[in-house]
Amino acid sequence: VGKERVQLAEGIRNTLILLDHKVRSKHISVTLKLPSDLPEVCGWPGELNQVWTNLIDNAVDALPDGGKLEISSQPDGSEFVLTKVIDNGAGIPKDIQDKIFEPFFTTKGIGKGTGLGLDIVQGVVKHHNGSIKVRSEPGRTEFSICLPTQ
Ligand code: ADP
Ligand code: MG
Repeated sequence: VGKERVQLAEGIRNTLILLDHKVRSKHISVTLKLPSDLPEVCGWPGELNQVWTNLIDNAVDALPDGGKLEISSQPDGSEFVLTKVIDNGAGIPKDIQDKIFEPFFTTKGIGKGTGLGLDIVQGVVKHHNGSIKVRSEPGRTEFSICLPTQ
């Protein structure tokens, strides 16, 4: 199947609707910064929805009751769109930051995490010729995903 023009804002909003129960049950406040004139990216919408699902799911898991989640997208030059998923949860300890993208790596305990989420995210980003970066410190974790518009 060929690539399509994808509106990221639509995929992100739909993902939040699917995760609405979990987000509300933890009283998470969500801030969306999704400009209406955001360029479309080029790719596979179903795969990209897996990216938003896994990143938002992880953020909500990391957040305490009443925590904050921010999702923003902006053009990055003329050829990319940069999306950030930011939470103010506990953060990712430095000594595991290089392990979190490995398949089956989880800190969530048996039956709670598969450890496959970020492996899937990384695979989808690579398939799109994009890039992903994580920056985390206690109280703030930011995943940045750069996706091409062509
Ligand atoms: P899972 O969610 O099943 O544990 P993932 O691949 O999605 O697997 O994530 C791997 C690990 O990365 C998580 O178990 C957690 O320790 C860490 N992690 C991912 N996102 C965050 C986040 N936003 N804040 C803190 N830790 C995170
Ligand atoms: Mg996960």
